[in-house]
Amino acid sequence: MFEKSIQAYEDAKKVIPGGVDSPVRAFGGVIGTPPFIARGEGSFMYDIDGNKYLDFVQSWGPLIFGHCDKDIENSVLETVKNGLSFGAPTELETQLSNEIVEMFDNIDKVRFVSSGTEAVMSAIRLARGVTGKNDIVKFEGNYHGHSDSLLVAAGSGMATFGAPSSPGVPADLTKHTLLSEYNNIAQLEKCFAESSDIACIIIEPIAGNMGLVPASEDFLAKCRELCDASGALLIFDEVMSGFRASLKGAQGIVSTIPDIVTFGKVIGAGMPVGAFASRAEIMSQLSPEGKIYQAGTLSGNPVAMAAGLTSLKKLKADKDIYDRLNAKAVRLTTGLQEVATKHNIPLQVDTRGSMFGFFFCEDVPTNMKEVGKCDFPRFAKFHNEMLKRGFYFACSQYEAGFICDTMTDGDIDATIKAADEVMANLI
Ligand SMILES: *Cc1c(COP(=O)(O)O)cnc(C)c1O
Repeated sequence: MFEKSIQAYEDAKKVIPGGVDSPVRAFGGVIGTPPFIARGEGSFMYDIDGNKYLDFVQSWGPLIFGHCDKDIENSVLETVKNGLSFGAPTELETQLSNEIVEMFDNIDKVRFVSSGTEAVMSAIRLARGVTGKNDIVKFEGNYHGHSDSLLVAAGSGMATFGAPSSPGVPADLTKHTLLSEYNNIAQLEKCFAESSDIACIIIEPIAGNMGLVPASEDFLAKCRELCDASGALLIFDEVMSGFRASLKGAQGIVSTIPDIVTFGKVIGAGMPVGAFASRAEIMSQLSPEGKIYQAGTLSGNPVAMAAGLTSLKKLKADKDIYDRLNAKAVRLTTGLQEVATKHNIPLQVDTRGSMFGFFFCEDVPTNMKEVGKCDFPRFAKFHNEMLKRGFYFACSQYEAGFICDTMTDGDIDATIKAADEVMANLI
């Protein structure tokens, strides 16, 4: 059933490293090779062999209205007719910025970039520039894009100066990155005890890059407290959770207020957009108002802005959308847990708005080390069997899943029915 995709993958591997432009797409942690996608429609994707999938990945988050939403499509098509890019200001940028500024009390100004990686990288520079300090605190299992100083991941679990997790990243560039376990207050305190040069804490307040693992309220409050006591800034990386977990992202759910917020994914509705934002006195230190340099030829691209603007307006106008999305996420995860229990398979589930996660393990994981103890071979088998039945889940247990607005209760129930069948044979 995957013949054409298998051939396409072979062809791609000859001219693209690993056949993919982003490593997770290569199905490294699961069985088989990636389906090559021909097109999407609503909640579904079709591959080049003609297989149809219910899509729980949605381009890794951006497509909260599903594939080919007519309003977004039309705004893109209209904007394209005026030209693809000008390298000069357009009103669309101000309009999208206004939508965001109106939504958040702690945001006065927004700067647009072209990816989440770029947004976080720039936010870190801003925090360092504003505070005049060098160190950053990051948490194991939180992903903030692939820029050098943030490519420091799981170490021994000790709060320590980070070692780079990729060749090509000089240790000199990561020596300012302090690592702490997620949801571990003692380790976080140790970072601040060891360094008086901390510019910022960067955190996914609802982590979605080690599966779905929310930070506890206490932990976030401690982040705020340590930043305030030391003059560091608190950055919420909401590239995934922004406009996903709720209209205000994590900020609509937790009570801690960050200094700087980064956005991506949903903010571009499938087009390449990232953004970072803060209050005026911080943002005004950015070039050309201030001295901290940051730039981009295609930043604020009009076509991408049009997609994001239409998407945010739709999200704002639809007061029930997040309740609707969460009800479906809960329907899915409770359903999965019920069939797992029926087949004596331990499964932990959670949701935040339209985000969901499930782990094959005995206890709810709260950090990267605990996620690592999940049953990965079992996940790989589950993934493969669901894919063969037309259900497209993220190809790694380290990824969150997403509900889109076009998904119906019937779609969810069909998923649970298939999972029941699959789990009956999942050893
Ligand atoms: C996806 C993601 C990024 C990176 O965004 P890209 O657009 O892939 O560069 C950064 N932070 C978080 C939390 C993400 O989920």
